[in-house]
Amino acid sequence: MKLFDFNKYFPDETACRKAFKEMRDREGVVCQHCGSHDVVWLESKQQYQCKHCRHRTTLRSGTVMHGSKLPFMYWFIAMHLLTATKKSISAAELQRQLGHKRYQPIWEMMHKLRSVMGKRDDKYTLKGNIELDEGFFSTETPDSQKQEKLKSGAGSQKKSKVLVIAESTESENPKRGQKPKKVGHIKMIVVPNLRMVTIDGEAVNVIEPDSSITTDASKSHNNFKLLFGEHKSQVIDPKDIGKMLPWVHIAIANAKTLFADMYHGIKPEFLQEYLNEFCYKFNRRYFGEDLFERLVMIAASYRTDFEHRAYRTAV
Ligand SMILES: [Zn+2]
Repeated sequence: MKLFDFNKYFPDETACRKAFKEMRDREGVVCQHCGSHDVVWLESKQQYQCKHCRHRTTLRSGTVMHGSKLPFMYWFIAMHLLTATKKSISAAELQRQLGHKRYQPIWEMMHKLRSVMGKRDDKYTLKGNIELDEGFFSTETPDSQKQEKLKSGAGSQKKSKVLVIAESTESENPKRGQKPKKVGHIKMIVVPNLRMVTIDGEAVNVIEPDSSITTDASKSHNNFKLLFGEHKSQVIDPKDIGKMLPWVHIAIANAKTLFADMYHGIKPEFLQEYLNEFCYKFNRRYFGEDLFERLVMIAASYRTDFEHRAYRTAV
């Protein structure tokens, strides 16, 4: 959404609150006590009440704002900034823009939005011709391991392992300068290790069984021929990676560049949230102006289980 439109439609707290309620009404409010969809809005209480069990639900309850005390307008500004550009915005920058005193609630708000983006994408599986590979993202050493690392003289950076999967179909008669394959949806999943059992478990969870998977010849993919319709595996010379697995490598390179530009360091336990945002926006790259409204929709539809675990001032 363009800045002028945002200012026109969402000029103040009342407008944002009203827009959020309209989105909840459109998506349907469910009673958290008995599961009924039959609710009535009590204007005087500013709450929904179930017609069956009379349980009351606040406007924020059961949404991404569950438990948050931040103004609706903060959430709308954050959703606007997250969807208005191809890049992103850091919590520190948003805190400056909002002029909010404390960093932590802003940081949590951003991660909660990234978390519901991930929940939305979890609903979809990948199918057809699939590229799969592992990427290694630089993340900070967790505080618990810092002491040992310093003692051993190793740097403060470590690599987090990420399973990267992309729907990728051969282009018919690709034009000069075009990629030989067209990309559909992608997924990026932080994994604790690259063992076969780990990779298999994640892959069957997110890829349709009749798909055709292309990978390098790593042993951790040995089961794919049993798990999926087809498995094309071969030793790939690093210079041919753009031909064999173009889209997983473009996605990895773009995500790494974005993270390096935007953030001063990502802790491994929060890497998945940043990847959620990257994939969510990549998968909706043709949505244009609709991206903002879609994000408001999922913000109204999903409650996040993201909990504050740790934070630092510059992430
Ligand atoms: Zn009820």
